[in-house]
Amino acid sequence: MVDHWIGGRRVTSTVRFDDISPIDGSVLAHVSRACPDEVDLAVDAAEEAFTHWRRTTRERRAEYLHKIADGVEKRIDELAATETADNGALLRSHLRGVMPRVVHNFRFFADWLVDEVSHPDFDTRGHTNQVSWDPAGVCALITPWNAPLMLASWKIAPALAAGNTVVLKPAEWSPLTASLLADITAEAELPPGVFNVVNGYGVETGQHLVNHPKLRRISFTGSVPTGRAIAKAAAANLVPASLELGGKSPLIVFADADLDLAVQLAVEQYDNAGQVCLAGVRLLVEESVAAEFMAGFLTRADALKQGDPRDAATDIGPLVHRRQFERVDTFVQRAKADGARVLLGGGPNAELGGLYYRPTLLTDVPPGSEILTEEVFGPVLTVQTFRREEEAVTMANDTRFGLAATLVTGDRERARRVTGQLVAGTVWVNCFFVRDLRAPFGGSRESGVGREGGNWSFDFYCDIKNTVSAEQGWRHG
Ligand code: NAD
Repeated sequence: MVDHWIGGRRVTSTVRFDDISPIDGSVLAHVSRACPDEVDLAVDAAEEAFTHWRRTTRERRAEYLHKIADGVEKRIDELAATETADNGALLRSHLRGVMPRVVHNFRFFADWLVDEVSHPDFDTRGHTNQVSWDPAGVCALITPWNAPLMLASWKIAPALAAGNTVVLKPAEWSPLTASLLADITAEAELPPGVFNVVNGYGVETGQHLVNHPKLRRISFTGSVPTGRAIAKAAAANLVPASLELGGKSPLIVFADADLDLAVQLAVEQYDNAGQVCLAGVRLLVEESVAAEFMAGFLTRADALKQGDPRDAATDIGPLVHRRQFERVDTFVQRAKADGARVLLGGGPNAELGGLYYRPTLLTDVPPGSEILTEEVFGPVLTVQTFRREEEAVTMANDTRFGLAATLVTGDRERARRVTGQLVAGTVWVNCFFVRDLRAPFGGSRESGVGREGGNWSFDFYCDIKNTVSAEQGWRHG
């Protein structure tokens, strides 16, 4: 049983849904499905808690966040195993990368608020301007299933650090670690109502939450269609919304690149069975090195081991859910019908059965075909070739999205030139997925609205105030 966490206690719904493991189809939990009254209860609890939490000092709030980080650190094994059972992502990634990142998210935003968020006072004709970052109020945080706790924590941590209270609605396909986090916040003695979790389906629980008139911020990570629905709800109440959405990012390999590195980076795009918003799923390779690149890629990708994500030797686990599996396969089958040629994979892994989909590479894809334009969110890459740099840039930008881009080149000048022309929130040059919480993160075009990370997070989660005082030298607050 997994229940909501509202006002520092468990709240049970009369209606439940089954949380199913993608590994073996077993039912992991019967999860409470919040009705509008329960969402209202959570928002009310958060609103009530805000009155004292906003007055807690930055330093004290930072202490709570460090205690939460300690709690996550203590429970890394349990959190990792739970999340692997819940969304099928590799246990070894959860243990080594994802859960330590969760710890870091809490510590980073706690320290950043105390040490970094400030602005020098300045003078206007004998008046002092002082900028302050005030807590905004109740924040609704809505998260997807592909990295549930990591993505939630990088919203929860700055929102709480800034003095806001939170209602989190995790994805219905992977709700378990959010519930464990609620236990951890209780152990950290976070005051009741500061952090709340409501579970349920997006179109009912999620939609009711984002429509709520008492919200002061909405932060969402997920798909473009849901992002549009949330933007509409936010517009109705004039609530600032941060939207981290999908992508169809390019990975560009120039002939002057270190081809071993290019192959390695390209094969990494199958990580988490391709269920990564930032994945460079459109491989764009300079024609003169395409044959050599392809040979290296196929050798390396062929050696990837698909199987149980709890096994340390596994490279690719199952897809998260039957619906996602069918969606991915439908894309691949339609691409084949459109004339695409399969160089690798091209269908379910029949040997393993279940939700295992073979890492797939498609070529000869007709221009404009949907496999080049729509986000698949599975282990499916396409490869196209180009002859000139300008052509590569045009192909890279030929998308409605603008989340990320990766270039592999041995020419620093070219890297600078090409980067300047790419439409993307993040560009990686000769690397992939190197992330720093001080850096802005977000997408251009349909990949999102706004940036989070470092000061950008606090700019979003705070009401920024400028106080103009007639006498210089006064300190405000
Ligand atoms: P989704 O949009 O279906 O769901 C995300 C969350 O929104 C879930 O919690 C869901 O319950 C909720 N939701 C759905 N409809 C809602 C509504 N009408 N109102 C309020 N909440 C609603 O996305 P998903 O399938 O869970 O996740 C995959 C998508 O997330 C992909 O498009 C991927 O690119 C994107 N993503 C983006 C980033 C990023 O940082 N840009 C990171 C990870 C995933």
